[in-house]
Amino acid sequence: MDKYCKLQKIGEGSFGKAILVKSREDYKQYVIKEINISRMSSKEREESRREVEVLANMKHPNIVLYRESFEENGSLYIVMDYCEGGDLYKRINAQKGVLFPEDQILDWFVQICLALKHVHDRKILHRDIKSQNIFLTKDGIIQLGDFGIARVLNSTLELSQTCIGTPYYLSPEICENKRYNNKSDIWALGCVLYEMCTLKHAFEAGSMKNLVLKIISGSFPPVSLHYSYDLRSLLSHLFKRNPRERPSVNSILEKSFIAKRIEKFLTPELIAEEFSHRAFHKYGAHPVPAKRPAQGQIFVSPAPAQKITKPAAKYGVPLTHKKVVEMPKKVHEKKPPSRYKQAQQTPLKKVNPGEERRKMFEELARRRRLECHEKEKKKREQINLLKQEHMKRQEKERMERINRAREQGWRSVLSCGGSGEVKAKGTAC
Ligand code: ADP
Ligand code: MG
Repeated sequence: MDKYCKLQKIGEGSFGKAILVKSREDYKQYVIKEINISRMSSKEREESRREVEVLANMKHPNIVLYRESFEENGSLYIVMDYCEGGDLYKRINAQKGVLFPEDQILDWFVQICLALKHVHDRKILHRDIKSQNIFLTKDGIIQLGDFGIARVLNSTLELSQTCIGTPYYLSPEICENKRYNNKSDIWALGCVLYEMCTLKHAFEAGSMKNLVLKIISGSFPPVSLHYSYDLRSLLSHLFKRNPRERPSVNSILEKSFIAKRIEKFLTPELIAEEFSHRAFHKYGAHPVPAKRPAQGQIFVSPAPAQKITKPAAKYGVPLTHKKVVEMPKKVHEKKPPSRYKQAQQTPLKKVNPGEERRKMFEELARRRRLECHEKEKKKREQINLLKQEHMKRQEKERMERINRAREQGWRSVLSCGGSGEVKAKGTAC
Protein backbone atom coordinates (compact mmCIF):
# COMPACT_ATOMS: atom_id res chain seq x y z
CA MET A 1 0.00 0.00 0.00
CA ASP A 2 3.08 2.24 0.36
CA LYS A 3 3.12 2.68 -3.39
CA TYR A 4 -0.18 4.51 -3.16
CA CYS A 5 -1.36 7.59 -1.34
CA LYS A 6 -4.98 7.41 -0.14
CA LEU A 7 -7.06 10.32 -1.43
CA GLN A 8 -10.57 9.43 -0.29
CA LYS A 9 -12.97 6.59 0.30
CA ILE A 10 -15.40 6.67 -2.62
CA GLY A 11 -17.72 3.97 -1.49
CA GLU A 12 -18.44 0.97 0.55
CA GLY A 13 -19.63 -1.95 -1.51
CA SER A 14 -21.07 -5.29 -0.63
CA PHE A 15 -17.56 -6.77 -0.64
CA GLY A 16 -15.42 -4.06 0.88
CA LYS A 17 -14.27 -0.50 0.52
CA ALA A 18 -13.46 1.38 -2.67
CA ILE A 19 -10.66 3.92 -2.16
CA LEU A 20 -9.44 6.56 -4.57
CA VAL A 21 -5.64 6.65 -4.47
CA LYS A 22 -2.72 8.31 -6.23
CA SER A 23 0.29 6.27 -7.28
CA ARG A 24 3.59 7.52 -5.91
CA GLU A 25 5.24 6.09 -9.04
CA ASP A 26 3.29 7.47 -12.00
CA TYR A 27 1.19 10.03 -10.05
CA LYS A 28 -1.96 8.69 -11.68
CA GLN A 29 -5.21 8.10 -9.84
CA TYR A 30 -6.46 4.56 -9.28
CA VAL A 31 -9.24 2.88 -7.37
CA ILE A 32 -8.28 0.26 -4.83
CA LYS A 33 -10.82 -2.28 -3.66
CA GLU A 34 -10.04 -3.38 -0.12
CA ILE A 35 -11.51 -6.75 0.79
CA ASN A 36 -11.14 -8.06 4.30
CA ILE A 37 -10.13 -11.69 3.96
CA SER A 38 -8.98 -12.21 7.53
CA ARG A 39 -12.31 -13.69 8.63
CA MET A 40 -12.65 -15.83 5.51
CA SER A 41 -12.08 -19.55 5.55
CA SER A 42 -9.01 -20.72 3.69
CA LYS A 43 -11.30 -22.03 0.93
CA GLU A 44 -12.97 -18.64 0.55
CA ARG A 45 -9.60 -16.91 0.60
CA GLU A 46 -8.41 -19.15 -2.18
CA GLU A 47 -11.55 -18.31 -4.15
CA SER A 48 -10.93 -14.57 -3.77
CA ARG A 49 -7.42 -15.05 -5.12
CA ARG A 50 -8.80 -17.02 -8.03
CA GLU A 51 -11.26 -14.23 -8.74
CA VAL A 52 -8.42 -11.78 -8.84
CA GLU A 53 -6.71 -14.00 -11.39
CA VAL A 54 -9.91 -13.91 -13.46
CA LEU A 55 -9.92 -10.14 -13.21
CA ALA A 56 -6.26 -9.92 -14.19
CA ASN A 57 -7.00 -11.75 -17.42
CA MET A 58 -9.67 -9.31 -18.53
CA LYS A 59 -8.21 -6.91 -21.02
CA HIS A 60 -10.78 -5.10 -23.09
CA PRO A 61 -11.42 -1.43 -23.90
CA ASN A 62 -14.87 -1.71 -22.29
CA ILE A 63 -13.74 -3.38 -19.09
CA VAL A 64 -12.18 -1.48 -16.19
CA LEU A 65 -8.49 -2.24 -16.34
CA TYR A 66 -7.02 -4.25 -13.51
CA ARG A 67 -3.51 -3.08 -12.55
CA GLU A 68 -2.31 -5.31 -9.74
CA SER A 69 -3.30 -6.90 -6.47
CA PHE A 70 -1.60 -7.61 -3.17
CA GLU A 71 -2.38 -8.80 0.34
CA GLU A 72 -1.55 -6.81 3.44
CA ASN A 73 -2.68 -7.02 7.07
CA GLY A 74 -5.46 -9.48 6.36
CA SER A 75 -6.86 -7.55 3.45
CA LEU A 76 -6.79 -8.18 -0.26
CA TYR A 77 -6.19 -5.03 -2.33
CA ILE A 78 -7.16 -4.87 -5.99
CA VAL A 79 -5.84 -1.88 -7.92
CA MET A 80 -7.77 -0.79 -10.99
CA ASP A 81 -8.14 2.23 -13.25
CA TYR A 82 -10.16 5.13 -11.95
CA CYS A 83 -13.11 5.98 -14.19
CA GLU A 84 -13.36 9.73 -13.94
CA GLY A 85 -16.78 9.95 -15.59
CA GLY A 86 -18.40 8.18 -12.61
CA ASP A 87 -20.93 5.39 -12.90
CA LEU A 88 -23.97 5.03 -15.15
CA TYR A 89 -26.31 5.11 -12.16
CA LYS A 90 -25.17 8.63 -11.30
CA ARG A 91 -25.28 9.64 -14.99
CA ILE A 92 -28.90 8.41 -15.21
CA ASN A 93 -29.90 10.29 -12.07
CA ALA A 94 -28.22 13.45 -13.37
CA GLN A 95 -30.72 13.48 -16.26
CA LYS A 96 -33.42 14.69 -13.84
CA GLY A 97 -36.17 13.04 -15.84
CA VAL A 98 -35.00 14.06 -19.33
CA LEU A 99 -34.86 10.90 -21.47
CA PHE A 100 -31.65 10.01 -23.30
CA PRO A 101 -31.66 10.03 -27.10
CA GLU A 102 -31.83 6.50 -28.56
CA ASP A 103 -28.43 6.93 -30.23
CA GLN A 104 -26.80 7.55 -26.86
CA ILE A 105 -28.53 4.55 -25.29
CA LEU A 106 -27.49 2.22 -28.10
CA ASP A 107 -23.90 3.49 -28.12
CA TRP A 108 -23.65 2.72 -24.42
CA PHE A 109 -25.53 -0.54 -24.71
CA VAL A 110 -23.31 -1.94 -27.47
CA GLN A 111 -20.23 -1.22 -25.35
CA ILE A 112 -21.76 -3.00 -22.35
CA CYS A 113 -22.56 -5.95 -24.63
CA LEU A 114 -19.00 -6.02 -26.00
CA ALA A 115 -17.65 -6.16 -22.45
CA LEU A 116 -20.10 -8.89 -21.48
CA LYS A 117 -19.27 -10.84 -24.62
CA HIS A 118 -15.62 -10.79 -23.62
CA VAL A 119 -16.60 -12.15 -20.22
CA HIS A 120 -19.13 -14.78 -21.37
CA ASP A 121 -16.90 -16.00 -24.20
CA ARG A 122 -14.41 -16.94 -21.49
CA LYS A 123 -17.10 -18.87 -19.65
CA ILE A 124 -17.23 -16.38 -16.83
CA LEU A 125 -20.33 -14.84 -15.33
CA HIS A 126 -20.30 -11.27 -14.17
CA ARG A 127 -23.06 -11.81 -11.59
CA ASP A 128 -23.38 -8.18 -10.55
CA ILE A 129 -24.35 -6.23 -13.66
CA LYS A 130 -25.99 -2.99 -12.56
CA SER A 131 -25.75 0.65 -13.49
CA GLN A 132 -23.50 1.24 -10.46
CA ASN A 133 -20.95 -1.20 -11.85
CA ILE A 134 -20.86 0.37 -15.30
CA PHE A 135 -18.48 3.30 -15.52
CA LEU A 136 -17.69 6.14 -17.87
CA THR A 137 -14.14 7.20 -18.59
CA LYS A 138 -13.32 10.86 -18.96
CA ASP A 139 -13.72 10.38 -22.74
CA GLY A 140 -17.21 8.97 -22.29
CA ILE A 141 -16.25 5.35 -23.01
CA ILE A 142 -18.22 2.70 -21.14
CA GLN A 143 -16.34 0.29 -18.91
CA LEU A 144 -17.84 -2.64 -17.09
CA GLY A 145 -16.33 -3.08 -13.67
CA ASP A 146 -16.49 -5.00 -10.48
CA PHE A 147 -15.75 -8.57 -11.21
CA GLY A 148 -15.37 -9.00 -7.48
CA ILE A 149 -18.04 -11.65 -7.49
CA ALA A 150 -17.57 -13.06 -10.93
CA ARG A 151 -17.27 -16.81 -10.81
CA VAL A 152 -15.87 -19.14 -13.35
CA LEU A 153 -18.86 -20.76 -15.07
CA ASN A 154 -17.74 -24.29 -14.46
CA SER A 155 -17.08 -23.83 -10.79
CA THR A 156 -19.09 -25.66 -8.17
CA LEU A 157 -22.86 -25.40 -8.12
CA GLU A 158 -23.06 -24.06 -4.62
CA LEU A 159 -21.10 -20.97 -5.66
CA SER A 160 -23.32 -20.27 -8.62
CA GLN A 161 -26.37 -20.48 -6.44
CA THR A 162 -25.31 -17.87 -3.92
CA CYS A 163 -27.73 -14.98 -3.98
CA ILE A 164 -25.70 -11.84 -4.36
CA GLY A 165 -26.36 -8.63 -6.20
CA THR A 166 -28.74 -5.71 -5.98
CA PRO A 167 -32.34 -6.97 -5.74
CA TYR A 168 -33.59 -4.79 -8.62
CA TYR A 169 -31.52 -6.82 -11.05
CA LEU A 170 -32.46 -10.25 -9.76
CA SER A 171 -33.83 -12.52 -12.44
CA PRO A 172 -36.96 -14.68 -12.07
CA GLU A 173 -34.87 -17.87 -11.89
CA ILE A 174 -32.82 -16.48 -9.00
CA CYS A 175 -36.01 -15.39 -7.27
CA GLU A 176 -37.18 -18.97 -7.68
CA ASN A 177 -33.93 -20.27 -6.21
CA LYS A 178 -32.75 -21.76 -9.43
CA ARG A 179 -29.21 -21.73 -10.69
CA TYR A 180 -27.52 -18.51 -11.79
CA ASN A 181 -26.49 -18.77 -15.43
CA ASN A 182 -25.30 -16.59 -18.28
CA LYS A 183 -28.93 -15.65 -19.03
CA SER A 184 -29.26 -14.22 -15.52
CA ASP A 185 -26.55 -11.75 -16.54
CA ILE A 186 -28.66 -11.07 -19.66
CA TRP A 187 -31.70 -10.30 -17.48
CA ALA A 188 -29.59 -7.80 -15.53
CA LEU A 189 -28.40 -6.37 -18.85
CA GLY A 190 -32.08 -5.87 -19.72
CA CYS A 191 -32.58 -4.06 -16.41
CA VAL A 192 -29.72 -1.69 -17.28
CA LEU A 193 -31.11 -1.09 -20.79
CA TYR A 194 -34.53 -0.38 -19.28
CA GLU A 195 -32.96 2.04 -16.80
CA MET A 196 -31.27 3.90 -19.66
CA CYS A 197 -34.60 4.15 -21.52
CA THR A 198 -36.81 5.20 -18.62
CA LEU A 199 -34.38 6.46 -15.95
CA LYS A 200 -36.20 4.09 -13.61
CA HIS A 201 -35.91 0.52 -12.51
CA ALA A 202 -38.01 -1.98 -14.43
CA PHE A 203 -39.02 -3.76 -11.25
CA GLU A 204 -39.57 -1.68 -8.17
CA ALA A 205 -41.61 -2.31 -5.06
CA GLY A 206 -41.86 -1.26 -1.46
CA SER A 207 -40.95 -4.65 -0.10
CA MET A 208 -38.71 -7.49 -1.08
CA LYS A 209 -41.76 -9.78 -1.31
CA ASN A 210 -43.56 -7.49 -3.76
CA LEU A 211 -40.37 -6.98 -5.73
CA VAL A 212 -39.92 -10.71 -6.13
CA LEU A 213 -43.59 -11.06 -7.16
CA LYS A 214 -43.14 -8.36 -9.78
CA ILE A 215 -39.96 -9.94 -11.13
CA ILE A 216 -41.54 -13.38 -11.31
CA SER A 217 -44.61 -12.01 -13.07
CA GLY A 218 -42.24 -10.32 -15.53
CA SER A 219 -44.49 -7.31 -16.01
CA PHE A 220 -42.93 -3.89 -16.23
CA PRO A 221 -44.20 -0.44 -17.25
CA PRO A 222 -43.73 0.06 -21.00
CA VAL A 223 -40.93 2.30 -22.29
CA SER A 224 -41.72 5.41 -24.27
CA LEU A 225 -43.03 4.83 -27.82
CA HIS A 226 -40.56 7.50 -28.78
CA TYR A 227 -37.96 4.69 -28.87
CA SER A 228 -37.72 2.42 -31.90
CA TYR A 229 -39.55 -0.86 -32.27
CA ASP A 230 -36.16 -2.63 -32.47
CA LEU A 231 -35.13 -1.30 -29.09
CA ARG A 232 -38.47 -2.04 -27.40
CA SER A 233 -38.62 -5.49 -28.88
CA LEU A 234 -35.07 -6.25 -27.72
CA LEU A 235 -36.07 -5.23 -24.19
CA SER A 236 -39.00 -7.61 -24.16
CA HIS A 237 -36.67 -10.42 -25.25
CA LEU A 238 -34.15 -9.64 -22.52
CA PHE A 239 -37.02 -9.80 -20.04
CA LYS A 240 -38.26 -13.24 -21.08
CA ARG A 241 -39.10 -15.13 -17.92
CA ASN A 242 -37.68 -18.33 -19.29
CA PRO A 243 -33.87 -17.89 -19.40
CA ARG A 244 -33.63 -20.12 -22.48
CA GLU A 245 -35.78 -17.67 -24.42
CA ARG A 246 -33.47 -14.75 -23.64
CA PRO A 247 -30.87 -14.05 -26.30
CA SER A 248 -27.20 -14.68 -25.60
CA VAL A 249 -24.90 -11.68 -25.70
CA ASN A 250 -23.54 -12.90 -29.02
CA SER A 251 -26.96 -13.00 -30.61
CA ILE A 252 -27.73 -9.51 -29.26
CA LEU A 253 -24.56 -8.29 -30.97
CA GLU A 254 -25.68 -9.91 -34.21
CA LYS A 255 -28.81 -7.76 -34.43
CA SER A 256 -28.18 -5.29 -37.23
CA PHE A 257 -29.19 -2.17 -35.29
CA ILE A 258 -26.61 -3.11 -32.63
CA ALA A 259 -23.97 -4.70 -34.89
CA LYS A 260 -23.54 -1.57 -37.00
CA ARG A 261 -22.28 0.31 -33.92
CA ILE A 262 -19.53 -2.16 -33.02
CA GLU A 263 -16.83 -0.65 -35.18
CA LYS A 264 -17.33 2.72 -33.52
CA PHE A 265 -15.82 1.23 -30.38
CA LEU A 266 -13.47 -1.58 -31.37
CA THR A 267 -10.53 -1.39 -33.76
CA PRO A 268 -10.65 -3.75 -36.76
CA GLU A 269 -7.91 -5.84 -35.11
CA LEU A 270 -9.92 -6.17 -31.92
CA ILE A 271 -13.08 -7.02 -33.84
CA ALA A 272 -11.16 -9.80 -35.54
CA GLU A 273 -9.86 -11.01 -32.19
CA GLU A 274 -13.13 -10.78 -30.31
CA PHE A 275 -15.42 -12.25 -32.94
CA SER A 276 -14.61 -15.81 -33.74
CA HIS A 277 -15.05 -16.91 -37.34
CA ARG A 278 -18.28 -18.62 -36.20
CA ALA A 279 -19.93 -15.38 -35.19
CA PHE A 280 -17.95 -13.02 -37.30
CA HIS A 281 -19.35 -13.81 -40.74
CA LYS A 282 -22.65 -12.28 -39.73
CA TYR A 283 -21.07 -8.85 -39.48
CA GLY A 284 -19.74 -8.49 -42.99
CA ALA A 285 -21.10 -9.16 -46.43
CA HIS A 286 -18.13 -11.42 -47.17
CA PRO A 287 -17.94 -15.06 -46.28
CA VAL A 288 -15.38 -16.03 -43.68
CA PRO A 289 -13.11 -18.98 -44.46
CA ALA A 290 -14.83 -22.07 -43.12
CA LYS A 291 -11.53 -23.81 -42.47
CA ARG A 292 -10.18 -23.68 -38.95
CA PRO A 293 -6.51 -22.82 -38.64
CA ALA A 294 -4.19 -25.80 -38.60
CA GLN A 295 -3.17 -26.94 -35.13
CA GLY A 296 -0.38 -24.94 -33.62
CA GLN A 297 -0.85 -22.21 -36.16
CA ILE A 298 -1.64 -18.81 -34.73
CA PHE A 299 -4.80 -17.48 -36.29
CA VAL A 300 -4.10 -13.86 -37.09
CA SER A 301 -6.76 -12.68 -39.40
CA PRO A 302 -6.60 -9.05 -40.39
CA ALA A 303 -8.58 -9.72 -43.54
CA PRO A 304 -12.12 -9.92 -42.10
CA ALA A 305 -11.45 -6.83 -40.01
CA GLN A 306 -10.49 -4.90 -43.10
CA LYS A 307 -13.52 -6.18 -44.90
CA ILE A 308 -15.89 -4.94 -42.26
CA THR A 309 -14.67 -1.40 -42.75
CA LYS A 310 -15.74 -1.42 -46.40
CA PRO A 311 -18.81 0.75 -46.77
CA ALA A 312 -20.81 -1.95 -48.50
CA ALA A 313 -20.21 -4.42 -45.69
CA LYS A 314 -20.62 -1.65 -43.13
CA TYR A 315 -24.07 -0.59 -44.24
CA GLY A 316 -25.13 -3.89 -45.77
CA VAL A 317 -25.49 -2.33 -49.24
CA PRO A 318 -25.49 -4.97 -51.98
CA LEU A 319 -22.61 -4.34 -54.36
CA THR A 320 -24.88 -4.85 -57.40
CA HIS A 321 -27.09 -1.96 -56.35
CA LYS A 322 -25.65 0.63 -58.79
CA LYS A 323 -26.12 -1.59 -61.82
CA VAL A 324 -29.75 -2.15 -60.94
CA VAL A 325 -30.36 1.60 -60.77
CA GLU A 326 -28.67 2.24 -64.08
CA MET A 327 -30.68 -0.35 -65.98
CA PRO A 328 -32.70 1.24 -68.81
CA LYS A 329 -36.43 1.39 -68.21
CA LYS A 330 -38.37 -1.34 -69.91
CA VAL A 331 -40.55 0.04 -72.68
CA HIS A 332 -43.58 -2.05 -71.80
CA GLU A 333 -43.62 -0.76 -68.19
CA LYS A 334 -46.14 2.07 -68.35
CA LYS A 335 -46.60 4.37 -65.37
CA PRO A 336 -50.14 4.55 -64.07
CA PRO A 337 -51.68 8.02 -64.75
CA SER A 338 -51.12 10.49 -61.90
CA ARG A 339 -54.05 11.70 -59.81
CA TYR A 340 -53.66 15.17 -61.31
CA LYS A 341 -54.00 13.80 -64.83
CA GLN A 342 -56.98 11.72 -63.81
CA ALA A 343 -58.65 14.85 -62.47
CA GLN A 344 -57.89 16.72 -65.67
CA GLN A 345 -59.52 13.99 -67.68
CA THR A 346 -62.76 14.05 -65.64
CA PRO A 347 -65.25 16.69 -66.97
CA LEU A 348 -66.29 19.39 -64.41
CA LYS A 349 -69.90 19.40 -63.19
CA LYS A 350 -72.03 22.56 -63.55
CA VAL A 351 -73.21 24.08 -60.18
CA ASN A 352 -75.99 26.62 -59.48
CA PRO A 353 -75.10 29.89 -57.54
CA GLY A 354 -77.73 29.44 -54.75
CA GLU A 355 -76.40 26.07 -53.92
CA GLU A 356 -72.85 27.46 -53.86
CA ARG A 357 -73.77 30.27 -51.38
CA ARG A 358 -75.45 27.74 -49.08
CA LYS A 359 -72.32 25.64 -49.16
CA MET A 360 -70.18 28.71 -48.37
CA PHE A 361 -72.26 29.51 -45.23
CA GLU A 362 -72.12 25.92 -44.17
CA GLU A 363 -68.37 25.99 -44.60
CA LEU A 364 -68.09 29.21 -42.52
CA ALA A 365 -70.18 27.71 -39.73
CA ARG A 366 -68.08 24.57 -39.80
CA ARG A 367 -64.88 26.60 -39.52
CA ARG A 368 -66.24 28.57 -36.54
CA ARG A 369 -67.20 25.34 -34.81
CA LEU A 370 -63.70 24.02 -35.49
CA GLU A 371 -62.08 27.17 -34.05
CA CYS A 372 -64.17 26.91 -30.88
CA HIS A 373 -63.29 23.28 -30.60
CA GLU A 374 -59.57 24.06 -31.05
CA LYS A 375 -59.69 26.75 -28.33
CA GLU A 376 -61.30 24.34 -25.89
CA LYS A 377 -58.76 21.68 -26.79
CA LYS A 378 -55.89 24.09 -26.12
CA LYS A 379 -57.38 25.02 -22.75
CA ARG A 380 -57.71 21.36 -21.83
CA GLU A 381 -54.11 20.73 -22.96
CA GLN A 382 -52.84 23.58 -20.79
CA ILE A 383 -54.67 22.19 -17.78
CA ASN A 384 -53.26 18.74 -18.53
CA LEU A 385 -49.76 20.14 -18.85
CA LEU A 386 -50.05 21.81 -15.45
CA LYS A 387 -51.31 18.53 -14.00
CA GLN A 388 -48.45 16.61 -15.64
CA GLU A 389 -45.85 19.06 -14.29
CA HIS A 390 -47.32 18.65 -10.83
CA MET A 391 -47.22 14.86 -11.20
CA LYS A 392 -43.64 15.01 -12.54
CA ARG A 393 -42.57 17.03 -9.51
CA GLN A 394 -44.23 14.50 -7.23
CA GLU A 395 -42.63 11.63 -9.19
CA LYS A 396 -39.20 13.31 -8.96
CA GLU A 397 -39.58 13.65 -5.21
CA ARG A 398 -40.68 10.01 -5.02
CA MET A 399 -37.67 8.90 -7.11
CA GLU A 400 -35.31 10.90 -4.90
CA ARG A 401 -36.76 9.17 -1.85
CA ILE A 402 -36.40 5.77 -3.55
CA ASN A 403 -32.85 6.54 -4.67
CA ARG A 404 -31.88 7.52 -1.15
CA ALA A 405 -33.45 4.33 0.09
CA ARG A 406 -31.73 2.31 -2.63
CA GLU A 407 -28.36 3.45 -1.48
CA GLN A 408 -29.00 3.00 2.19
CA GLY A 409 -31.52 0.25 2.48
CA TRP A 410 -30.91 -2.62 0.13
CA ARG A 411 -27.57 -3.60 1.49
CA SER A 412 -29.14 -4.15 4.87
CA VAL A 413 -31.90 -6.21 3.22
CA LEU A 414 -29.29 -8.32 1.48
CA SER A 415 -27.18 -8.78 4.53
CA CYS A 416 -30.32 -9.97 6.34
CA GLY A 417 -30.70 -12.79 3.84
CA GLY A 418 -32.82 -11.08 1.17
CA SER A 419 -36.38 -11.43 2.40
CA GLY A 420 -38.99 -9.52 4.32
CA GLU A 421 -39.89 -5.87 4.35
CA VAL A 422 -37.45 -3.19 3.31
CA LYS A 423 -36.27 -1.11 6.20
CA ALA A 424 -34.91 1.72 4.06
CA LYS A 425 -35.23 5.13 5.58
CA GLY A 426 -37.64 7.48 3.88
CA THR A 427 -39.19 4.93 1.49
CA ALA A 428 -42.80 5.86 1.03
CA CYS A 429 -43.90 3.44 -1.66
P1 ADP B 1 -20.84 -1.77 -5.01
O1 ADP B 1 -20.81 -3.09 -4.33
O2 ADP B 1 -22.04 -0.95 -4.67
O3 ADP B 1 -20.66 -1.94 -6.50
P2 ADP B 1 -18.18 -0.68 -4.98
O4 ADP B 1 -17.23 -0.86 -3.86
O5 ADP B 1 -17.93 -1.43 -6.23
O6 ADP B 1 -19.63 -0.93 -4.46
O7 ADP B 1 -18.18 0.83 -5.37
C1 ADP B 1 -18.41 1.85 -4.46
C2 ADP B 1 -18.40 3.18 -5.19
O8 ADP B 1 -17.14 3.37 -5.82
C3 ADP B 1 -19.47 3.31 -6.27
O9 ADP B 1 -20.09 4.57 -6.17
C4 ADP B 1 -18.71 3.25 -7.55
O10 ADP B 1 -19.30 4.10 -8.51
C5 ADP B 1 -17.31 3.72 -7.18
N1 ADP B 1 -16.30 3.02 -7.95
C6 ADP B 1 -15.96 1.71 -7.86
N2 ADP B 1 -14.99 1.40 -8.74
C7 ADP B 1 -14.69 2.54 -9.42
C8 ADP B 1 -13.77 2.88 -10.49
N3 ADP B 1 -12.96 1.97 -11.00
N4 ADP B 1 -13.75 4.15 -10.93
C9 ADP B 1 -14.58 5.07 -10.41
N5 ADP B 1 -15.45 4.83 -9.41
C10 ADP B 1 -15.53 3.58 -8.91
MG1 MG C 1 -19.27 -1.92 -7.64
